[in-house]
Amino acid sequence: MDLHWTFLFVPVAILYFSWTPVQGFIWPMAGWFATLAGLLFSFVLVHELGHALVARWRGVAAERIVLFPLGGGAFLPDQPEKTLDEVLIYAAGPLANIALSLLALPFLLARPEGELLLRSYVNPFGNLLLTPTLTEQILGLTIAVNLILAAGNLLPAYPLDGGRILRALLQGPLGHRRATITVTVLGVVIGAGLAVAGYLLSDPLLVFGALFIMVVSSLEFRGGWQRRRLAAVPVAQVIRPATVLGHDRIYPSSTVGSVRALFARTSWPVLPVFDDWNELLGFVEANTLANEAKDNHSSIEAYFEAEFVGSLPEENLLAITEKIVGANVYGAAIYGPRGKLIGYIFTEDLLPLLDTLPKKVGRLFKTKWSAERKSGHR
Ligand SMILES: [Zn+2]
Repeated sequence: MDLHWTFLFVPVAILYFSWTPVQGFIWPMAGWFATLAGLLFSFVLVHELGHALVARWRGVAAERIVLFPLGGGAFLPDQPEKTLDEVLIYAAGPLANIALSLLALPFLLARPEGELLLRSYVNPFGNLLLTPTLTEQILGLTIAVNLILAAGNLLPAYPLDGGRILRALLQGPLGHRRATITVTVLGVVIGAGLAVAGYLLSDPLLVFGALFIMVVSSLEFRGGWQRRRLAAVPVAQVIRPATVLGHDRIYPSSTVGSVRALFARTSWPVLPVFDDWNELLGFVEANTLANEAKDNHSSIEAYFEAEFVGSLPEENLLAITEKIVGANVYGAAIYGPRGKLIGYIFTEDLLPLLDTLPKKVGRLFKTKWSAERKSGHR
């Protein structure tokens, strides 16, 4: 478990809010803020431990927990495969908060004015007519804050626990992509609602959290949109035909100079390297050669990567991209009928396809603007 470095802000914030121009530092106030921060920290910790322990119980490794001042994050390296596991793991955090709240309940009720205290803590708009003791305040806050944490995290908005649970449940009937679209759209809508609520309640923390939900949701939505776009592009549109290179083949023994010449002639970013039986061996990148190779007479042996992935032309571009990214190679070789090498797809060819919608709109405006400017000069 790690504490995120932004925790350094917590003592600074406590001191800042405990200082008044007239009285200087009000130490009892600083002590109270520190108690509050400690309480909140322990509630978040319990929440994250809930996720982590259930993940371990279900055999899904939770890599580590990083605690941020405003909330934690249990990082799950693999998405759990079974829907039930996913639901249990994401529900465990809010459930741990509810459990903590229920644990504090009998202790508060056992106090002389217990019921009245409970009512005032659970109702956010209620006025506290009593002056509770420190113990009573801690018990009341434990109940109220944990209920808020549980309810907030169960909102059906990505990336909150509730949104992830909803996505897991929708994945069966709708499929992963549509389920993700649903919860990310909900994330933006609910996030916007929370931002307005935060503004009306003049609660900067709520506004901040709401904006975070909106940003993460729209990023995830964009990712889904890009995947959909990739899947729709035919391989024929991006393939670099092997015939372009003709009989100019690169071997590990080829000289740096000859390969540089071929790069200059083709202006390809990456070129294939073959073995002595003319089977594809891997790829060499123009940039690597330009930056690392000094001597034109030495061989490219040290500068190429003997790794590639193979694909079929009828494969979808999304699947090919995932293969390239997964294997961390420069590109894929596309094999036609009878295993004949027909062409290549490189990472560089995929990047322009990932252009986001805002970028496209931006470019449209830019070209229009520069065209207008040009005509204005005339
Ligand atoms: Zn959670």
